[in-house]
Amino acid sequence: MYRDRFHIPIQQKTQKPYIYFCGNSLGLQPKGVLEAIRQELEDWANLGVEGHFHGKNPWAKYHEFFSEKAARLVGAKPIEVVMMNNLTVNLHLMMVSFYRPTPQRYKIIIEGGAFPSDQYAVKSQILFHGYNVKDALIELIPRPNEHTLRTEDIVQAIHDAGDSLALVMLGGVNYYTGQAFDMQTITQEAHKVGAMAGFDLAHAAGNILLHLHDWEVDFAVWCTYKYLNSGPGAVSGCFVHEKYANSPDLPRFAGWWGHDEKTRFLMGPDFTPMLGAAGWQLSNAPVMNMVAHKVSLDIFDEATMPALRQKSEEMIQFLLERIQNLVEIITPFELKDRGCQTSIRVGKQGKKVFQKLSEAGIIADWREPDVIRIAPVPLYNTMEEIDEFSKILKKVI
Ligand SMILES: *Cc1c(COP(=O)(O)O)cnc(C)c1O
Repeated sequence: MYRDRFHIPIQQKTQKPYIYFCGNSLGLQPKGVLEAIRQELEDWANLGVEGHFHGKNPWAKYHEFFSEKAARLVGAKPIEVVMMNNLTVNLHLMMVSFYRPTPQRYKIIIEGGAFPSDQYAVKSQILFHGYNVKDALIELIPRPNEHTLRTEDIVQAIHDAGDSLALVMLGGVNYYTGQAFDMQTITQEAHKVGAMAGFDLAHAAGNILLHLHDWEVDFAVWCTYKYLNSGPGAVSGCFVHEKYANSPDLPRFAGWWGHDEKTRFLMGPDFTPMLGAAGWQLSNAPVMNMVAHKVSLDIFDEATMPALRQKSEEMIQFLLERIQNLVEIITPFELKDRGCQTSIRVGKQGKKVFQKLSEAGIIADWREPDVIRIAPVPLYNTMEEIDEFSKILKKVI
């Protein structure tokens, strides 16, 4: 059982494990992490600088250990993915290359109420290029009395903006409502009007099935500390579609680790990018910050996303059956429109409900003004926990 490969936090009072439904915020620690970190510390202690080439996992190549498995995770080719930086940094780096506004075409579509960091990043890019946020930013909001966006309305907004639209940048799964967007359709429609399509997969990677290459998404970014269980602030992922793999002229912010590795150590003055996403790297791999991801990604690769998603769907359906008559749920019910997170709306007494759940040993998360997010994940949560949760919720409410 995969659950046995994770540390499950234990309640002090009862010595029973918590019901941990917060993998959408910070995933649990795989048990192999400690040993993997010890290995790198040992190589550093024993080899010093030689660890770059002669360590068990040579640090100079460390980012390459992820290419194949990260590619499988997001439905990409190895050349299309790289692990580097953190999510918001990667979003900026991608926008430097893929948001190239002109007076004719400068608008960006995002979700109204997008994750704050995404809003700040997008708005600051608009300002950086000398445009006006009010004019350039199109924020999509649900219809009255609806919680989530309809694909048809997103498509309409794309066509309304038409040739003034430079970029569509949405979360793959919205962090608040848990809605998964139809990334394929959105990408196609964005391309029809000549715009780029990029996605923030913070809540999608390791949660839903992704086919970034086939969908022809232009770029995507994700973090690894949520569903991907790689520890606080762990390294992030970046996808650049293969069609840009060999585009040395595409403007970008450059650093030495993005330079062609064959000539990187000649230390020449002119930048020649690596092919593919690796050409957007700035710095050498932050190895200590990547170790946990290596361990975790091995587990995902072993379990496989299709199998995890299948179990996740069973868990979603079971949870919905058990709680749909107890609380208002703002996450779509249709499986294709969602991942494992269920956002429940608990009204004015919400904070109290949340506190009572916490006291009963449930770790979930609270979002202002009145939403509790519950995310049973297929790797380490169980049907029994969902059952137990629904009983506690019923009592509390
Ligand atoms: C978690 C999350 C982030 C976090 O950004 P970092 O740069 O990793 O701190 C950004 N965007 C979304 C949508 C998120 O859910």
